[in-house]
Amino acid sequence: MNNFCEKYIFTPGPVKMYEETLKIGSFQTPYFRNDEFSKIVLECEENLLKIANAPKGSRVLFLTASGTAGMEATVQNLLNENDNILVINGGGFGQRFVEICETHKLAHVGVNIKDTNLSDITVLDKYKNSTALLINAHETSIGTFYNLDSVSKFAKENQMLFIVDAISMFITDKLDMESQNIDALIISSHKGLALPPGLSMVILSPKAINKINPKHQLYFDFNSYLKDGQRGQTPFTPAVTIILQLHARLEQIVNTGIEKEILKAKEIAEYFRKEIEALPLKCFSDFMPNAMTTLTPTDGKSATQIVKELDEKFNVIVAPNGGELKDKIFRVSHMGNMTKEYVDVLIDSLYEIYNKKRGV
Ligand SMILES: *Cc1c(COP(=O)(O)O)cnc(C)c1O
Repeated sequence: MNNFCEKYIFTPGPVKMYEETLKIGSFQTPYFRNDEFSKIVLECEENLLKIANAPKGSRVLFLTASGTAGMEATVQNLLNENDNILVINGGGFGQRFVEICETHKLAHVGVNIKDTNLSDITVLDKYKNSTALLINAHETSIGTFYNLDSVSKFAKENQMLFIVDAISMFITDKLDMESQNIDALIISSHKGLALPPGLSMVILSPKAINKINPKHQLYFDFNSYLKDGQRGQTPFTPAVTIILQLHARLEQIVNTGIEKEILKAKEIAEYFRKEIEALPLKCFSDFMPNAMTTLTPTDGKSATQIVKELDEKFNVIVAPNGGELKDKIFRVSHMGNMTKEYVDVLIDSLYEIYNKKRGV
């Protein structure tokens, strides 16, 4: 055991996992080219479609890779030289979509978005003739949660293929593929689903399935995943153990009910935000998801310093930022197996750093 195992985890991926997930991870990895494993995969697909409320005829692809591969593979498989792509660029993950389009030489425009959650979409008016819209539902680099309803309305009115990276809001905030007209939904194992990193899933609507490019790459060719997926298999060795963990977690979510799951994240986020009100820390964003709180010290203390002290003195891990926001903000995740008692460890540590008595 190294001291990684002793940390309190409040990062937006990886997140604190459930005991059941840890237990499954402790067993030998079984062989997977058989009916028993196919059944597991098919049940995962069914439950994911249910949770996302995917339109009839939608499918789930299971990619053994981190979330960025899910983003890149989706762009590569669904878009081509006839597209001109609108990318919502509100931070590091929006920029990643821009870089993916650049790398694959796809015509695109990245619109820089600041201080809005796009409830008012007039900033997008000029781009009505785009053929596809790429957005990170929650821009995790700074904690902006976009208004998916208004953005989806804009995409629908202008007949755009609507591709949503929901990696850091799936399970913790409301999302509905059917009513929000989402054609491709990208999710990943190590955020709200609270599993180890390594598995990404792309949910495709029938419209997206019809637009898949002919095979032009091996590992991430969506056609192969769809074909093998029909019998609950993947073209290459999948992250077998993570799929077993996913299976158990999805059963848990479906049994609890997705609304309850979202409510739990909301309660934890609100509890944290309320309990730290007496500290010189201000919420950085007006548009926060339940998944995360981004904080700015208002007393001139450096955010990097707070992140460092939390780790060194209290074994508490929150997420620092890079670049120009390095000293201005740090991020606290509410995703995963959170309880008020667990969050209290972080809250109490922050009070100690500020030499203040909590609740006085
Ligand atoms: C975490 C995250 C990703 C995936 O990042 P990886 O490091 O590739 O797993 C993608 N988009 C968003 C919005 C994220 O929060």
